[in-house]
Amino acid sequence: WFGNKEYKIVMVGLDNAGKTTILYKLHLGEVVQATATVGSNVELVRFKNIQLEIWDLGGQQNLRPFWGTYFKNTDAVIMVVDSTDRARVGVTKSELFNLLESEELAKTPILVYANKQDLRDAMAVEELTQSLQLHSIRNHDWHIQACCALTGDGLLDGINWIYQRTK
Ligand code: GDP
Repeated sequence: WFGNKEYKIVMVGLDNAGKTTILYKLHLGEVVQATATVGSNVELVRFKNIQLEIWDLGGQQNLRPFWGTYFKNTDAVIMVVDSTDRARVGVTKSELFNLLESEELAKTPILVYANKQDLRDAMAVEELTQSLQLHSIRNHDWHIQACCALTGDGLLDGINWIYQRTK
């Protein structure tokens, strides 16, 4: 998938959102390099023509100083959300809008994975869209995709949305 172009994708989310599970479900391979400079917050993965950076957001560390270094030439951002985590949806929202301020990510399309839809108390896409105030996003193409990382449901639909916008 993803044609021949070289892609750089940044995948972010709070801890426990499901980033690692998605990585393995998409068969994107092993983490090849955890970057010492920013502690355990960033992992780099290479898979064929895709370079993937995975960030844990919402820790104590302010990652803003590293944005310039890491976000340059990013083709797409994937934000993974634990749809059952109502307590931290506010944190997720501020981290998302923080990120969107980064100049390096200007005009980058944003895919939000509303993950863990298999769980009974999961927020539906409409509720998450409201809580994250996605409609107030300016200057970015965005899309929210319901998914379940455990089964893989919805994952490729999200990837396909990115592909349509970046090819
Ligand atoms: P990360 O911290 O963002 O990398 O999150 P992980 O991928 O480690 O997942 C955190 C926990 O959530 C693990 O126990 C996963 O098995 C679980 N998990 C991830 N995705 C799903 C999902 O779609 N449904 C359910 N029920 N659990 C999930």
